[in-house]
Amino acid sequence: MPVYSYSRINTFENCPLQFKFRYVDKIKRYRESVEAFLGSRCHDVFEKLYKDKKLGKNNSLEDLLSFYNSIWDKKWRDDIQIVKGEYKAEHYKNIGQKAIKDYYAKYHPFEQSKTINLEKAVYVTLNGNGGQNYKFMGYIDRLSEVADGELEVHDYKTSGTLPEQRILDQDKQLALYQIAVENSWPNSKKVHLVWHYLVFDKEMRSYRTAEQLEKLKQVFLASIKTIEQTTEANNFLPLESPLCNWCDYPDLCPKRRHLFSVKDLPQNEYLKEDGVKLVNKYAELVNDFKEKKRIHEEEKAKIEAALIEYAKKKDLEKVIGTEFEANIKKEKKGAFPRTNEPTRIKLDEFIKEIGIWDKVSSLSSAKLLKSLQSNGLTNEQIKKINEFQTVEEKTSVSLSKLKDQQ
Ligand code: SF4
Repeated sequence: MPVYSYSRINTFENCPLQFKFRYVDKIKRYRESVEAFLGSRCHDVFEKLYKDKKLGKNNSLEDLLSFYNSIWDKKWRDDIQIVKGEYKAEHYKNIGQKAIKDYYAKYHPFEQSKTINLEKAVYVTLNGNGGQNYKFMGYIDRLSEVADGELEVHDYKTSGTLPEQRILDQDKQLALYQIAVENSWPNSKKVHLVWHYLVFDKEMRSYRTAEQLEKLKQVFLASIKTIEQTTEANNFLPLESPLCNWCDYPDLCPKRRHLFSVKDLPQNEYLKEDGVKLVNKYAELVNDFKEKKRIHEEEKAKIEAALIEYAKKKDLEKVIGTEFEANIKKEKKGAFPRTNEPTRIKLDEFIKEIGIWDKVSSLSSAKLLKSLQSNGLTNEQIKKINEFQTVEEKTSVSLSKLKDQQ
């Protein structure tokens, strides 16, 4: 039975290409970020706190801080990545110390609930269409009983942003754990979801009804179907976001490879690099037109062609300049046979056979392409329709202001 985890689905949703590098190509590159390191050390402290408490040992605040400082120093490695260059490791260590002090002041003597499990592995089986089952696994930071039959799933977060309540009310990770807990403790009366946003000294809560959990299972199954279809088509597209700054694969990614290759060059070499020169020249022409209405169509077209060629040779979708970046967009446009083409009759027959003729009647290519992306067709049906498709490729260049990047 295929096994999925929340982080696997989350990686795909954040960036399908990163998912491919990590889970399909299995390129092991994990470089721990200082944020992840801080999170792990705080988890270590709370695990110790509640494990000792279960065994009747109460730690003082000094005990916990001394434990935190010693594991921080022992586990720290020089290759831990600090993306925000203006901060040093000590800054993050202090954040953890403050979080522990705040938590201690808020919950001491830690008798709000009785701990059942710590760092507990949980599993959920989802029944997909066509008899295929999937297993989900995850780890609950702390599971506790607050009153007879009422359980709490606790999660510790060291994130530097505090989500709004509505975001937590839609959170899929802890809701998935709620399904697992309700399966393992069928007599539980209610399962509360509790997040501890340590940096903000804030506890936030949510709860899911049985109906919401049922819908969530369908959402996970739909995500799995999208992952399977993308894997089958080997069509993992890069999805840029601020998270790219923490990505382990910038040297392999067509959106980040150029930046990665030039970012550490000395200024004089950087300005002489072919891609940088082309983007700077292109930006100069575009801005000259915008500001002074001077037209350079011929020269602009030449630079554009050179940029497309440069990007093609190096398999790039983005080329970096000093102040601007050029996005090289390759568009693939699918087309199905026209009414007078011989393969059209075969396609019409197949569309009728699988019962979507009414949806795409008189066969509009646009409608059919849209249908392929919806969830109603099997992989086999999609594959067969795609055999009729021809793909045209068009490449264009657009300029945007360079964002704050690594
Ligand atoms: S750098 Fe960004 S776009 Fe590229 S693979 Fe990583 S997360 Fe995806």
